[in-house]
Amino acid sequence: MKSTYIVLSGLVVTILIAAGIYLMADGTRAVSASEPTGNNQHNAGEDTMSEKIEKTDAEWRDILSPVEYNVLRKKGTEPPFTGEFNKFHGTGVFTCAACGLSLFDSGAKFDSGTGWPSFYQPIAEKHVAEKSDSSYGMVRTEVLCARCGGHLGHVFDDGPKPTGLRYCINSVALNFEEKQK
Ligand SMILES: [Zn+2]
Repeated sequence: MKSTYIVLSGLVVTILIAAGIYLMADGTRAVSASEPTGNNQHNAGEDTMSEKIEKTDAEWRDILSPVEYNVLRKKGTEPPFTGEFNKFHGTGVFTCAACGLSLFDSGAKFDSGTGWPSFYQPIAEKHVAEKSDSSYGMVRTEVLCARCGGHLGHVFDDGPKPTGLRYCINSVALNFEEKQK
């Protein structure tokens, strides 16, 4: 009887160890199986516009200069006639100073006389976001970078043809990439 008991208990221990190994192996499989799923989700979002850039206030403060931070993250406005792109006639593309997304083509730039660089249309509609802004007792339409949410300026409906729009943008919110000839 005693030897049967030892054999049985030995069998139980063997089964428990085998079950443990199986569970561990199963756990390992579960981890490796989740990786391709994650990659697939990443590949599905290849369009740069669907990949929004989100950073904390402290991270933006680290990346941007104090002047850029005040405009792009705190919705400040540079004084008129002071920005580097107000009287600027280079040929190329204006990009977001915070995330580099292309925003305005130099071909759509015009001299509005307001003291801020002005454009009659963005380079692509989905590259800019618009939001109603009722600050300072005025109802205006705020223009933001669609990718990082950075404040760019405002859009008004007193612009030239063909759109009749005037995107009034802070120079500080923009960088310029000259077109290669
Ligand atoms: Zn941006």
